[in-house]
Amino acid sequence: MMEAIDVTKRFGKDTVLASVSFRLDKGQSMAVLGPSGSGKTTLLSLLGLLLTPSSGEILFQGQRIQGLSDRELSNLRNHQLGYVFPSSQLIGSLTVWDNILLPARLAGKTREKQKRSRELIEQLGLATRMDHLPHQLSFGQKRRAALARALVMEPQLILADEPTNDLDDNMAKEVSRVLQGAKARGISLIIATHDYPLAESMERRFRIDRGRLSDVTVTDRELGERKGG
Ligand code: ATP
Repeated sequence: MMEAIDVTKRFGKDTVLASVSFRLDKGQSMAVLGPSGSGKTTLLSLLGLLLTPSSGEILFQGQRIQGLSDRELSNLRNHQLGYVFPSSQLIGSLTVWDNILLPARLAGKTREKQKRSRELIEQLGLATRMDHLPHQLSFGQKRRAALARALVMEPQLILADEPTNDLDDNMAKEVSRVLQGAKARGISLIIATHDYPLAESMERRFRIDRGRLSDVTVTDRELGERKGG
């Protein structure tokens, strides 16, 4: 469903990602770990078609992204991908409810998505905040509203950048449960996080270190087993 082949990203003289390759199958989930400034957001932005690689290729559902027209790209961004980025801001003049339903309204699916919106609002602890405007919310509530907005449309893939930042343990667990629920509905997940329990709940874990991406799923499991036994 998503594949990176030898992807390099440079900003000026800085090489942030160097020859990154991986493949994620449909319905799989993966966490991207790595220290602050290691390139997690950059990788998610490349995979979310918000940045273009300096070299290498990205394939989404078997299609080479670089070969697509602007129209095809915006179609993918709007209908197949769900973003939960700190920068994916809620619209300031709309209530939480209207923000969450906005993509459904734009797609002409308001009626059929109302029930799902209510469920997500309930699960994400936003029921008492439905009529609030974004500036009346905490950072954690804004993140949860952005997550609900992304999930309502049931995209093929959710890209979430640190979705549990600013949340207490209980709410972080709730967000993790909602993400698992999305996966159970067949949505693939790519999550950048420093939250190890969240990373452990993903099927695969990758780490970025000095621009290189490595699959640490097995290593982590072995370490866990050694610690446990
Ligand atoms: P954090 O965990 O702190 O969010 P991160 O792993 O997500 O960090 P990125 O935001 O991807 O890291 O940044 C990786 C590096 O690329 C940083 O050194 C950053 O300063 C640099 N960088 C990111 N975007 C740009 C840009 N548009 N222009 C120049 N440098 C950039």
